[in-house]
Amino acid sequence: MPHLLNEEQLQIKQSVREFAESEIKPHVMEWDESQHFPIELRPQLAELGLLGIIFPEEYGGAGMGYVEYATIIEELGRVDGSVGLSVAAHNSLCSNHIYKFGTEEQKKKYLVPLARGESFGAWGLTESQAGSDASGTRTTAVRAGEAWRVSGSKNFITHAISCETLVAVAVTDKSKGNRGITAFIFDKSMSGFRPDKKENKVGMRASETASVVFEECVVPDGNRLGKEGEGFLQAMQILDGGRISIAALSVGIAQGAYEAALRYSKERVQFGKAISEFQAIQFKLADMAMQIEAARLLTIQAARMKDAGLAVTKEAAMAKVFASEVAVRVAEESVQIHGGYGYTKDYPAEKFWRDAKLCTIGEGTSEIQRLVIAKQVLKG
Ligand SMILES: Cc1cc2nc3c(=O)[nH]c(=O)nc-3n(C[C@H](O)[C@H](O)[C@H](O)COP(=O)(O)OP(=O)(O)OC[C@H]3O[C@@H](n4cnc5c(N)ncnc54)[C@H](O)[C@@H]3O)c2cc1C
Repeated sequence: MPHLLNEEQLQIKQSVREFAESEIKPHVMEWDESQHFPIELRPQLAELGLLGIIFPEEYGGAGMGYVEYATIIEELGRVDGSVGLSVAAHNSLCSNHIYKFGTEEQKKKYLVPLARGESFGAWGLTESQAGSDASGTRTTAVRAGEAWRVSGSKNFITHAISCETLVAVAVTDKSKGNRGITAFIFDKSMSGFRPDKKENKVGMRASETASVVFEECVVPDGNRLGKEGEGFLQAMQILDGGRISIAALSVGIAQGAYEAALRYSKERVQFGKAISEFQAIQFKLADMAMQIEAARLLTIQAARMKDAGLAVTKEAAMAKVFASEVAVRVAEESVQIHGGYGYTKDYPAEKFWRDAKLCTIGEGTSEIQRLVIAKQVLKG
């Protein structure tokens, strides 16, 4: 797509495609079936710079922008949504929170190993009573001299078991509502912080999702991110960037599902013809291709605006809700084009379908994206 990406971006796209095809594709179903989080990929992901895509080289990153980031996540999602989701969560959530709001000391200690791929990052906003409504956070952090005692739990945390570093928010002043929520950096060496139940998910099964429990976990005040009470607003800003990566992941999943359907439609013969010769199938393929292109354009537009330093709250939400809903529709049509075989695990269509659904939920549901967009458009 030369009109969308420059020469260098096309080369990055190609190299990630080759990596995904050779190192990920052969294992996709095995990892999915066994819910295996492929931590063994970490050295290769690190060598390609994929664990520090959007951070400057001085912090161990690859120094790329959001257009490159979106392109990389799309290519990973085209082959395996789970690996795409893991790379996206590691970059946009935990690492980016430290990059955006950490002190120089915190960046050196935590961001550098994260960006170099020496450690995995997790990010904890969601709780049992705080899903779409993050202001419902119940985990508390109580001052104890130069430290904080954190108690509570977080749900649905990507990399909760394998992470070395976790950024999570806790209530530091209940009387101030969402202005009384503060973010902290936790590391595996701290006692009183442990992973709990691993979720048995419908899709994205090779991306590790589990709860985290804090039991009087002592966190030094030096691990506080920004000022007290800024955690909620920081999290909302982090999600603006993260939503671009979920949009890109959706485009990738849709692209993978579409390519599988296109291939199959030319191979499958019924009534003496390849099914691709039936107009009903052609119209499906046309709609799929058209919707993916529109989703990709919205995603790259949001990425370009982010690279230009512009506010992307509306554009990231638009890209995310549009692309994720396209991914679900396209993946479903891919199953349909495969007929009964699409409903089996012998063909890739069903996995794209299962994986796609997460994109309408994680980092803010479609309903919440529409609320975000409506708020922005009504502002004028
Ligand atoms: C695989 C996976 C990975 C995840 N990774 C992480 C992670 O790394 N870190 C993290 O913090 N979280 C993570 N999450 C959590 C995810 O962000 C939440 O699941 C999501 O924000 C929705 O919250 P909820 O599940 O509590 O749903 P709820 O908020 O309970 O929503 C239920 C339904 O009500 C709707 N709804 C809620 N409020 C409104 C409203 N005001 N108007 C209209 N409709 C509304 C929702 O759209 C949804 O349809 C992950 C989730 C999954 C499944």
